[in-house]
Amino acid sequence: MTRELYLSDSYQTRCEAQIVSIIDEKVVLDQTVFYPTGGGQEHDIGWLIQGDTTAEVLRVKKEQGEIIHYVNDSSGLSIGPVSAEIDWKRRKGLMRHHSMLHVLGSVCFKHFESLCTGNQIYQDRARIDLTNITELKTEEIEKMIEEANEEVEHNHPVSVRLVPRDVAESISGSIKTVVNLIPESVKEIRLVKIGDIDEQACGGTHVKETTEIGRMVLLKMKNKGKGVTRLELMAEE
Ligand SMILES: [Zn+2]
Repeated sequence: MTRELYLSDSYQTRCEAQIVSIIDEKVVLDQTVFYPTGGGQEHDIGWLIQGDTTAEVLRVKKEQGEIIHYVNDSSGLSIGPVSAEIDWKRRKGLMRHHSMLHVLGSVCFKHFESLCTGNQIYQDRARIDLTNITELKTEEIEKMIEEANEEVEHNHPVSVRLVPRDVAESISGSIKTVVNLIPESVKEIRLVKIGDIDEQACGGTHVKETTEIGRMVLLKMKNKGKGVTRLELMAEE
């Protein structure tokens, strides 16, 4: 199992680690700051630096508890100490857009009990699939986004905690629904809390305070059928 440093500190951009295996272009470390694609959030990119060798990390995936760093060229790397560094500009964008979706989701839940059925987070935009808002006109959606922007400006603190599964299931609101979708084998649930407006089961990386998100702007809106609306947004810095 790779130790996932991004779960406790999303602002850590670099770590010293050990390379424990290299198979073709796939490199595994004992611990890493690289976030692997998951939970709708795209992976980090960056570099593995060992002596005079710098390998570019192009893609990161989680496979059976191991975090696999796919590098451009592993020929200069060997088992042993390494520095791992992420591209902070990309990570920051991913964090801002991930937190943005949580804030917007909380406003939609408050007014329409909307649940999130899917999301995709990129460096410069994100999309979210929400229930219960297909009847709304564009102006009404814009009004909700405006309210979400007001929440952002309140500068709510964002915090993370780990709780036993049964505790997460007993919290009222939308958490229970999400937790039910997480495999039974997961006994500890990571909860991301935004001030007093939102708490979600989430394994992603987030900003510390909501003003870091910036101003969210609606890019696209689409009725996906079956009562689901897809919103695509970007957060302007
Ligand atoms: Zn999330």
